[in-house]
Amino acid sequence: MKTEKIPYKIYLSESEMPTAWYNLRADMKKKPAPLLNPATLQPMKAEELAGVFCEDLIAQELDNDTPFFEIPEEIRSFYKMYRPAPLVRAYCLEEKLGTPAKIYYKFEGNNTSGSHKLNSAIAQAYYAKKQGLKGVTTETGAGQWGTALSMACSYFDLDCKVYMVKCSYEQKPFRREVMRTYGASVTPSPSMETEVGNKILAEHPGTTGSLGCAISEAVEKAVTSDGYRYVLGSVLNQVLLHQSVIGLETKTALDKYGIKPDIIIGCAGGGSNLGGLIAPFMGEKLRGEADYRIIAVEPASCPSFTRGVYAYDFCDTGKVCPMAKMYTLGCDFIPSANHAGGLRYHGMSSTLSELYDQGLMEAVSVKQTDVFEAAEYFARIEGILPAPESSHAIRVAIDEALKCKETGEEKTIVFGLTGTGYFDMVAYEKFHDGEMSDYIPTDEELKAYRAKLPKVN
Ligand SMILES: *Cc1c(COP(=O)(O)O)cnc(C)c1O
Repeated sequence: MKTEKIPYKIYLSESEMPTAWYNLRADMKKKPAPLLNPATLQPMKAEELAGVFCEDLIAQELDNDTPFFEIPEEIRSFYKMYRPAPLVRAYCLEEKLGTPAKIYYKFEGNNTSGSHKLNSAIAQAYYAKKQGLKGVTTETGAGQWGTALSMACSYFDLDCKVYMVKCSYEQKPFRREVMRTYGASVTPSPSMETEVGNKILAEHPGTTGSLGCAISEAVEKAVTSDGYRYVLGSVLNQVLLHQSVIGLETKTALDKYGIKPDIIIGCAGGGSNLGGLIAPFMGEKLRGEADYRIIAVEPASCPSFTRGVYAYDFCDTGKVCPMAKMYTLGCDFIPSANHAGGLRYHGMSSTLSELYDQGLMEAVSVKQTDVFEAAEYFARIEGILPAPESSHAIRVAIDEALKCKETGEEKTIVFGLTGTGYFDMVAYEKFHDGEMSDYIPTDEELKAYRAKLPKVN
Protein backbone atom coordinates (compact mmCIF):
# COMPACT_ATOMS: atom_id res chain seq x y z
CA MET A 1 0.00 0.00 0.00
CA LYS A 2 1.08 3.59 0.53
CA THR A 3 4.61 3.98 1.84
CA GLU A 4 4.41 7.75 2.12
CA LYS A 5 4.63 8.92 5.73
CA ILE A 6 1.35 10.28 6.96
CA PRO A 7 1.69 14.00 7.87
CA TYR A 8 0.84 15.27 11.34
CA LYS A 9 -2.11 17.08 9.82
CA ILE A 10 -4.02 15.98 6.77
CA TYR A 11 -5.58 19.06 5.26
CA LEU A 12 -7.90 19.08 2.28
CA SER A 13 -7.84 21.75 -0.39
CA GLU A 14 -10.95 23.87 -0.92
CA SER A 15 -11.82 21.87 -4.00
CA GLU A 16 -11.81 18.65 -1.97
CA MET A 17 -14.40 19.96 0.48
CA PRO A 18 -17.83 18.30 0.31
CA THR A 19 -20.41 19.96 -1.92
CA ALA A 20 -23.34 17.95 -0.56
CA TRP A 21 -24.35 16.73 2.89
CA TYR A 22 -24.94 13.00 3.22
CA ASN A 23 -28.23 11.76 4.67
CA LEU A 24 -27.46 8.53 6.46
CA ARG A 25 -31.16 7.65 6.76
CA ALA A 26 -31.33 7.03 3.02
CA ASP A 27 -29.23 3.88 3.47
CA MET A 28 -31.08 2.58 6.54
CA LYS A 29 -33.42 -0.30 5.74
CA LYS A 30 -35.30 0.21 8.95
CA LYS A 31 -35.76 3.97 9.28
CA PRO A 32 -35.71 5.97 12.50
CA ALA A 33 -39.16 6.27 14.08
CA PRO A 34 -41.06 9.42 13.07
CA LEU A 35 -41.70 12.39 15.34
CA LEU A 36 -45.20 12.17 16.81
CA ASN A 37 -47.74 14.84 17.49
CA PRO A 38 -48.29 14.52 21.26
CA ALA A 39 -52.00 15.36 20.91
CA THR A 40 -52.90 12.82 18.20
CA LEU A 41 -49.96 10.39 18.50
CA GLN A 42 -49.79 10.48 14.69
CA PRO A 43 -46.56 11.19 12.77
CA MET A 44 -45.92 14.91 12.53
CA LYS A 45 -46.67 16.36 9.12
CA ALA A 46 -44.69 19.18 7.56
CA GLU A 47 -47.66 21.58 7.98
CA GLU A 48 -47.82 20.85 11.70
CA LEU A 49 -44.14 21.62 12.14
CA ALA A 50 -44.25 24.80 10.08
CA GLY A 51 -45.11 27.06 13.04
CA VAL A 52 -42.01 25.94 14.90
CA PHE A 53 -39.33 25.19 12.30
CA CYS A 54 -38.16 26.71 9.00
CA GLU A 55 -39.63 25.18 5.82
CA ASP A 56 -36.48 23.86 4.19
CA LEU A 57 -35.27 22.43 7.47
CA ILE A 58 -38.57 20.58 7.94
CA ALA A 59 -38.11 19.03 4.50
CA GLN A 60 -34.65 17.85 5.53
CA GLU A 61 -35.95 16.63 8.86
CA LEU A 62 -38.64 14.43 7.34
CA ASP A 63 -36.67 13.11 4.35
CA ASN A 64 -35.55 9.53 4.96
CA ASP A 65 -34.80 8.78 1.31
CA THR A 66 -32.70 11.45 -0.40
CA PRO A 67 -29.05 10.47 0.08
CA PHE A 68 -27.44 13.83 -0.75
CA PHE A 69 -28.48 17.44 -0.21
CA GLU A 70 -26.45 20.01 -2.07
CA ILE A 71 -24.79 22.51 0.27
CA PRO A 72 -25.89 25.99 -0.91
CA GLU A 73 -23.10 28.21 -2.22
CA GLU A 74 -23.56 30.76 0.63
CA ILE A 75 -23.02 28.07 3.25
CA ARG A 76 -20.01 26.67 1.41
CA SER A 77 -18.42 30.13 1.41
CA PHE A 78 -18.97 30.42 5.14
CA TYR A 79 -17.53 26.94 5.69
CA LYS A 80 -14.40 28.05 3.85
CA MET A 81 -13.72 30.65 6.57
CA TYR A 82 -12.94 27.92 9.11
CA ARG A 83 -12.93 24.64 7.19
CA PRO A 84 -11.69 22.20 6.09
CA ALA A 85 -10.97 21.07 9.65
CA PRO A 86 -7.66 19.27 10.03
CA LEU A 87 -7.46 15.53 10.59
CA VAL A 88 -4.56 15.18 12.99
CA ARG A 89 -2.38 12.12 13.40
CA ALA A 90 -1.72 11.99 17.15
CA TYR A 91 1.92 10.91 16.82
CA CYS A 92 2.85 12.49 20.17
CA LEU A 93 0.02 10.76 22.00
CA GLU A 94 0.83 7.40 20.39
CA GLU A 95 4.44 7.72 21.46
CA LYS A 96 3.62 8.73 25.00
CA LEU A 97 1.17 5.83 25.36
CA GLY A 98 3.65 3.44 23.78
CA THR A 99 0.87 1.96 21.70
CA PRO A 100 1.12 0.32 18.30
CA ALA A 101 -2.31 1.83 17.53
CA LYS A 102 -2.53 4.67 15.03
CA ILE A 103 -4.64 7.48 16.40
CA TYR A 104 -6.28 10.26 14.39
CA TYR A 105 -8.59 13.01 15.52
CA LYS A 106 -10.77 15.38 13.58
CA PHE A 107 -10.45 18.79 15.21
CA GLU A 108 -13.58 20.94 15.06
CA GLY A 109 -12.48 23.64 17.51
CA ASN A 110 -10.88 25.98 14.98
CA ASN A 111 -13.52 28.70 15.03
CA THR A 112 -14.56 31.38 17.51
CA SER A 113 -17.52 29.39 18.84
CA GLY A 114 -15.00 26.66 19.60
CA SER A 115 -16.98 23.65 18.44
CA HIS A 116 -18.54 21.72 15.56
CA LYS A 117 -21.90 23.39 16.23
CA LEU A 118 -21.18 26.18 13.76
CA ASN A 119 -21.55 23.63 10.91
CA SER A 120 -25.27 23.38 11.55
CA ALA A 121 -25.81 26.89 12.93
CA ILE A 122 -24.84 28.47 9.63
CA ALA A 123 -27.11 26.12 7.69
CA GLN A 124 -30.08 26.80 9.94
CA ALA A 125 -29.53 30.57 9.82
CA TYR A 126 -29.26 30.41 6.03
CA TYR A 127 -32.63 28.67 5.63
CA ALA A 128 -34.28 31.06 8.10
CA LYS A 129 -33.00 34.01 6.11
CA LYS A 130 -34.05 32.40 2.83
CA GLN A 131 -37.59 32.11 4.21
CA GLY A 132 -37.58 35.83 4.99
CA LEU A 133 -37.81 35.44 8.76
CA LYS A 134 -36.84 38.17 11.22
CA GLY A 135 -35.05 35.92 13.62
CA VAL A 136 -34.72 32.65 15.49
CA THR A 137 -34.91 31.48 19.10
CA THR A 138 -32.97 28.72 20.74
CA GLU A 139 -31.67 27.34 24.00
CA THR A 140 -28.09 26.78 25.03
CA GLY A 141 -26.67 24.69 27.83
CA ALA A 142 -22.93 25.00 28.11
CA GLY A 143 -23.08 27.87 25.61
CA GLN A 144 -21.39 26.48 22.50
CA TRP A 145 -24.57 26.26 20.48
CA GLY A 146 -25.73 29.75 21.45
CA THR A 147 -22.33 31.13 20.48
CA ALA A 148 -22.32 29.31 17.16
CA LEU A 149 -25.86 30.44 16.36
CA SER A 150 -25.15 34.05 17.27
CA MET A 151 -22.19 34.03 14.86
CA ALA A 152 -24.33 32.49 12.11
CA CYS A 153 -27.21 34.93 12.68
CA SER A 154 -24.96 37.97 12.60
CA TYR A 155 -23.53 36.74 9.28
CA PHE A 156 -27.01 36.64 7.75
CA ASP A 157 -28.30 39.66 9.69
CA LEU A 158 -30.95 37.76 11.65
CA ASP A 159 -32.13 38.43 15.19
CA CYS A 160 -31.09 35.73 17.65
CA LYS A 161 -32.75 35.11 21.04
CA VAL A 162 -30.97 32.64 23.26
CA TYR A 163 -32.35 31.04 26.44
CA MET A 164 -29.33 29.98 28.44
CA VAL A 165 -29.61 27.42 31.23
CA LYS A 166 -29.35 29.57 34.36
CA CYS A 167 -26.43 27.78 36.00
CA SER A 168 -24.31 28.21 32.83
CA TYR A 169 -25.45 31.82 32.48
CA GLU A 170 -24.01 32.46 35.92
CA GLN A 171 -20.96 30.19 35.58
CA LYS A 172 -19.96 31.28 32.10
CA PRO A 173 -20.25 35.06 31.78
CA PHE A 174 -17.63 35.06 29.03
CA ARG A 175 -19.71 32.81 26.77
CA ARG A 176 -22.64 35.14 27.29
CA GLU A 177 -20.52 38.13 26.27
CA VAL A 178 -19.30 36.39 23.12
CA MET A 179 -22.95 35.88 22.13
CA ARG A 180 -23.72 39.53 22.82
CA THR A 181 -20.68 40.55 20.81
CA TYR A 182 -22.36 38.84 17.85
CA GLY A 183 -25.59 40.67 18.61
CA ALA A 184 -27.66 37.94 20.29
CA SER A 185 -29.91 38.58 23.29
CA VAL A 186 -29.30 36.13 26.12
CA THR A 187 -31.88 35.31 28.81
CA PRO A 188 -31.24 33.02 31.79
CA SER A 189 -33.71 30.12 31.83
CA PRO A 190 -36.14 29.51 33.41
CA SER A 191 -37.27 33.10 32.98
CA MET A 192 -40.42 35.12 33.61
CA GLU A 193 -40.59 35.94 29.87
CA THR A 194 -42.57 32.85 28.98
CA GLU A 195 -45.57 31.03 30.37
CA VAL A 196 -43.69 27.77 30.63
CA GLY A 197 -40.79 29.53 32.40
CA ASN A 198 -43.20 30.99 34.94
CA LYS A 199 -44.78 27.59 35.47
CA ILE A 200 -41.44 25.86 36.01
CA LEU A 201 -40.32 28.61 38.42
CA ALA A 202 -43.54 28.25 40.40
CA GLU A 203 -43.08 24.47 40.66
CA HIS A 204 -39.33 24.54 41.35
CA PRO A 205 -38.40 27.86 42.92
CA GLY A 206 -34.64 28.43 42.88
CA THR A 207 -34.02 25.91 40.09
CA THR A 208 -30.85 26.55 38.10
CA GLY A 209 -32.55 25.29 34.96
CA SER A 210 -32.04 22.50 32.48
CA LEU A 211 -31.73 22.08 28.75
CA GLY A 212 -35.22 20.59 28.51
CA CYS A 213 -36.69 23.60 30.25
CA ALA A 214 -34.76 26.15 28.12
CA ILE A 215 -36.00 24.34 24.98
CA SER A 216 -39.60 24.77 26.11
CA GLU A 217 -39.05 28.49 26.62
CA ALA A 218 -37.36 28.99 23.25
CA VAL A 219 -40.12 27.09 21.42
CA GLU A 220 -42.85 29.09 23.15
CA LYS A 221 -41.09 32.35 22.29
CA ALA A 222 -40.78 31.33 18.62
CA VAL A 223 -44.40 30.29 18.15
CA THR A 224 -45.72 33.40 19.88
CA SER A 225 -43.48 35.89 18.01
CA ASP A 226 -44.26 36.94 14.47
CA GLY A 227 -41.50 36.11 11.95
CA TYR A 228 -39.57 33.84 14.32
CA ARG A 229 -38.84 30.14 14.28
CA TYR A 230 -37.08 27.82 16.69
CA VAL A 231 -33.76 26.19 15.89
CA LEU A 232 -31.99 23.37 17.72
CA GLY A 233 -28.29 22.53 17.82
CA SER A 234 -28.40 18.76 18.18
CA VAL A 235 -30.65 15.67 18.33
CA LEU A 236 -32.67 16.41 15.16
CA ASN A 237 -32.10 14.61 11.85
CA GLN A 238 -31.40 17.92 10.05
CA VAL A 239 -28.55 18.65 12.45
CA LEU A 240 -26.97 15.25 11.83
CA LEU A 241 -27.32 15.94 8.12
CA HIS A 242 -25.39 19.23 8.35
CA GLN A 243 -22.77 17.67 10.60
CA SER A 244 -22.07 15.00 7.97
CA VAL A 245 -19.54 17.53 6.67
CA ILE A 246 -17.27 16.32 9.52
CA GLY A 247 -17.38 12.68 8.42
CA LEU A 248 -17.19 13.44 4.70
CA GLU A 249 -14.02 15.49 5.16
CA THR A 250 -12.58 12.82 7.45
CA LYS A 251 -13.27 10.09 4.90
CA THR A 252 -11.75 12.07 2.02
CA ALA A 253 -8.62 12.77 4.10
CA LEU A 254 -8.22 9.11 5.10
CA ASP A 255 -8.86 7.88 1.56
CA LYS A 256 -6.07 10.14 0.26
CA TYR A 257 -3.61 8.02 2.18
CA GLY A 258 -5.41 4.71 1.83
CA ILE A 259 -6.19 4.58 5.55
CA LYS A 260 -9.12 2.48 6.77
CA PRO A 261 -10.14 3.03 10.38
CA ASP A 262 -10.93 0.05 12.62
CA ILE A 263 -12.57 2.04 15.40
CA ILE A 264 -14.45 5.36 15.22
CA ILE A 265 -15.19 7.10 18.50
CA GLY A 266 -17.26 10.16 19.33
CA CYS A 267 -18.83 11.72 22.39
CA ALA A 268 -22.60 11.69 22.44
CA GLY A 269 -24.83 14.35 23.95
CA GLY A 270 -27.71 14.63 21.51
CA GLY A 271 -25.68 12.74 18.91
CA SER A 272 -24.95 15.36 16.27
CA ASN A 273 -21.14 15.31 16.11
CA LEU A 274 -21.07 11.53 16.34
CA GLY A 275 -23.82 11.17 13.74
CA GLY A 276 -21.90 13.53 11.46
CA LEU A 277 -18.51 11.91 11.98
CA ILE A 278 -19.73 8.38 11.36
CA ALA A 279 -22.17 9.21 8.53
CA PRO A 280 -20.18 8.05 5.47
CA PHE A 281 -18.62 5.15 7.37
CA MET A 282 -21.98 3.97 8.68
CA GLY A 283 -23.30 4.37 5.13
CA GLU A 284 -20.70 1.86 3.93
CA LYS A 285 -21.57 -0.42 6.80
CA LEU A 286 -25.29 -0.23 6.00
CA ARG A 287 -24.64 -0.96 2.32
CA GLY A 288 -22.42 -3.91 3.28
CA GLU A 289 -19.29 -2.35 1.72
CA ALA A 290 -17.12 -2.11 4.84
CA ASP A 291 -17.21 -2.72 8.55
CA TYR A 292 -16.16 -0.47 11.41
CA ARG A 293 -16.47 -0.54 15.17
CA ILE A 294 -18.30 2.60 16.15
CA ILE A 295 -18.37 3.72 19.77
CA ALA A 296 -20.56 6.43 21.33
CA VAL A 297 -19.19 7.78 24.60
CA GLU A 298 -21.52 9.32 27.16
CA PRO A 299 -21.17 10.55 30.75
CA ALA A 300 -21.94 8.04 33.49
CA SER A 301 -24.06 10.77 35.09
CA CYS A 302 -26.33 11.06 32.02
CA PRO A 303 -26.26 7.59 30.44
CA SER A 304 -29.08 7.63 27.87
CA PHE A 305 -27.69 4.91 25.58
CA THR A 306 -26.22 2.61 28.20
CA ARG A 307 -28.95 2.81 30.84
CA GLY A 308 -31.91 4.46 29.13
CA VAL A 309 -34.83 2.82 27.34
CA TYR A 310 -35.76 2.97 23.65
CA ALA A 311 -39.17 4.59 23.74
CA TYR A 312 -41.19 7.60 22.69
CA ASP A 313 -40.54 10.52 24.99
CA PHE A 314 -40.89 14.27 25.09
CA CYS A 315 -37.90 16.24 23.86
CA ASP A 316 -38.37 18.98 26.45
CA THR A 317 -39.49 19.40 30.07
CA GLY A 318 -42.46 21.57 29.18
CA LYS A 319 -43.73 18.91 26.72
CA VAL A 320 -44.37 21.48 24.01
CA CYS A 321 -42.22 19.75 21.35
CA PRO A 322 -43.11 16.70 19.25
CA MET A 323 -42.35 13.31 20.78
CA ALA A 324 -39.38 11.35 19.51
CA LYS A 325 -38.56 7.66 19.79
CA MET A 326 -35.10 7.54 21.25
CA TYR A 327 -32.91 6.15 23.99
CA THR A 328 -34.03 8.28 26.89
CA LEU A 329 -33.76 8.66 30.65
CA GLY A 330 -37.11 10.45 30.78
CA CYS A 331 -37.70 14.10 29.99
CA ASP A 332 -37.63 15.13 33.66
CA PHE A 333 -34.15 13.73 34.15
CA ILE A 334 -31.54 16.36 35.05
CA PRO A 335 -27.98 15.23 35.75
CA SER A 336 -26.76 15.92 39.28
CA ALA A 337 -25.45 19.44 39.95
CA ASN A 338 -21.85 18.25 40.29
CA HIS A 339 -21.85 17.11 36.68
CA ALA A 340 -19.60 19.56 34.85
CA GLY A 341 -18.78 17.78 31.66
CA GLY A 342 -21.56 18.77 29.24
CA LEU A 343 -23.55 16.11 27.34
CA ARG A 344 -26.45 16.54 29.72
CA TYR A 345 -29.46 15.94 27.47
CA HIS A 346 -31.92 13.27 28.65
CA GLY A 347 -32.43 11.75 25.18
CA MET A 348 -30.51 10.95 22.02
CA SER A 349 -30.84 11.40 18.26
CA SER A 350 -33.54 9.06 16.95
CA THR A 351 -31.32 8.09 14.01
CA LEU A 352 -28.47 7.03 16.27
CA SER A 353 -30.94 5.39 18.64
CA GLU A 354 -32.26 3.22 15.81
CA LEU A 355 -28.71 2.32 14.67
CA TYR A 356 -27.75 1.44 18.24
CA ASP A 357 -30.90 -0.62 18.65
CA GLN A 358 -30.00 -2.54 15.49
CA GLY A 359 -26.57 -3.33 16.97
CA LEU A 360 -24.71 -1.28 14.37
CA MET A 361 -22.86 0.75 16.99
CA GLU A 362 -21.75 0.43 20.60
CA ALA A 363 -21.94 2.77 23.57
CA VAL A 364 -19.93 3.17 26.73
CA SER A 365 -20.24 5.54 29.65
CA VAL A 366 -17.34 7.16 31.49
CA LYS A 367 -16.97 8.95 34.83
CA GLN A 368 -16.19 12.65 34.72
CA THR A 369 -13.01 12.44 36.84
CA ASP A 370 -11.65 9.90 34.33
CA VAL A 371 -12.70 12.25 31.53
CA PHE A 372 -10.83 15.22 33.01
CA GLU A 373 -7.79 13.07 33.66
CA ALA A 374 -7.75 12.22 29.94
CA ALA A 375 -8.42 15.87 29.03
CA GLU A 376 -5.43 17.12 30.98
CA TYR A 377 -3.19 14.33 29.71
CA PHE A 378 -4.17 15.12 26.13
CA ALA A 379 -3.69 18.89 26.60
CA ARG A 380 -0.17 18.33 27.87
CA ILE A 381 0.79 15.98 25.05
CA GLU A 382 -1.07 17.19 21.97
CA GLY A 383 -1.23 20.86 22.94
CA ILE A 384 -4.95 21.40 22.40
CA LEU A 385 -7.02 22.24 25.49
CA PRO A 386 -10.08 20.06 24.86
CA ALA A 387 -13.71 20.72 25.74
CA PRO A 388 -14.99 18.43 28.52
CA GLU A 389 -17.49 16.96 26.03
CA SER A 390 -14.77 16.08 23.53
CA SER A 391 -12.70 14.58 26.33
CA HIS A 392 -15.20 11.75 26.69
CA ALA A 393 -14.04 10.57 23.26
CA ILE A 394 -10.39 11.16 24.20
CA ARG A 395 -10.84 8.94 27.27
CA VAL A 396 -12.11 6.01 25.24
CA ALA A 397 -9.61 6.54 22.40
CA ILE A 398 -6.82 6.31 24.99
CA ASP A 399 -8.40 3.23 26.58
CA GLU A 400 -8.67 1.51 23.19
CA ALA A 401 -5.06 2.44 22.34
CA LEU A 402 -3.92 0.97 25.67
CA LYS A 403 -5.76 -2.27 24.85
CA CYS A 404 -3.76 -2.39 21.60
CA LYS A 405 -0.60 -1.99 23.66
CA GLU A 406 -1.52 -5.15 25.56
CA THR A 407 -2.47 -7.19 22.52
CA GLY A 408 0.10 -5.71 20.13
CA GLU A 409 -2.63 -4.95 17.58
CA GLU A 410 -1.95 -2.01 15.23
CA LYS A 411 -5.50 -0.75 15.07
CA THR A 412 -6.38 2.55 13.48
CA ILE A 413 -8.50 4.69 15.77
CA VAL A 414 -10.30 7.85 14.65
CA PHE A 415 -12.04 10.08 17.15
CA GLY A 416 -13.89 13.36 17.03
CA LEU A 417 -12.29 16.25 18.92
CA THR A 418 -15.36 18.42 18.87
CA GLY A 419 -14.06 21.57 20.50
CA THR A 420 -11.89 23.56 22.85
CA GLY A 421 -12.37 24.05 26.58
CA TYR A 422 -11.35 27.67 27.24
CA PHE A 423 -14.74 28.49 28.73
CA ASP A 424 -14.75 25.41 30.91
CA MET A 425 -12.02 26.46 33.30
CA VAL A 426 -14.35 26.35 36.31
CA ALA A 427 -14.72 22.62 35.70
CA TYR A 428 -10.97 22.22 35.16
CA GLU A 429 -10.42 24.20 38.38
CA LYS A 430 -12.64 21.79 40.32
CA PHE A 431 -10.71 18.89 38.89
CA HIS A 432 -7.35 20.42 39.81
CA ASP A 433 -8.49 21.26 43.33
CA GLY A 434 -9.69 17.69 43.86
CA GLU A 435 -13.24 18.94 44.24
CA MET A 436 -14.70 17.09 41.30
CA SER A 437 -16.77 14.07 42.20
CA ASP A 438 -18.59 11.43 40.23
CA TYR A 439 -22.27 11.08 40.70
CA ILE A 440 -23.80 8.10 39.01
CA PRO A 441 -27.59 7.81 39.22
CA THR A 442 -28.89 4.70 40.99
CA ASP A 443 -31.20 2.19 39.33
CA GLU A 444 -34.01 3.37 41.61
CA GLU A 445 -33.63 6.98 40.48
CA LEU A 446 -33.62 5.99 36.82
CA LYS A 447 -36.65 3.76 37.38
CA ALA A 448 -38.59 6.66 38.86
CA TYR A 449 -37.98 8.82 35.78
CA ARG A 450 -38.75 5.90 33.48
CA ALA A 451 -42.11 5.37 35.19
CA LYS A 452 -43.11 8.84 33.99
CA LEU A 453 -42.49 8.14 30.28
CA PRO A 454 -45.57 8.78 28.13
CA LYS A 455 -47.56 5.65 27.39
CA VAL A 456 -47.36 5.56 23.62
CA ASN A 457 -45.94 2.22 22.55
C1 LIG B 1 -22.58 20.35 22.00
C2 LIG B 1 -21.27 19.71 22.05
C3 LIG B 1 -21.15 18.31 22.08
C4 LIG B 1 -22.31 17.37 22.15
O1 LIG B 1 -23.32 17.52 21.24
P1 LIG B 1 -23.65 16.43 20.14
O2 LIG B 1 -24.87 16.90 19.51
O3 LIG B 1 -23.81 15.11 20.85
O4 LIG B 1 -22.50 16.42 19.24
C5 LIG B 1 -19.89 17.76 22.05
N1 LIG B 1 -18.78 18.53 22.04
C6 LIG B 1 -18.86 19.87 22.03
C7 LIG B 1 -17.59 20.67 22.03
C8 LIG B 1 -20.10 20.50 22.03
O5 LIG B 1 -20.16 21.83 22.01
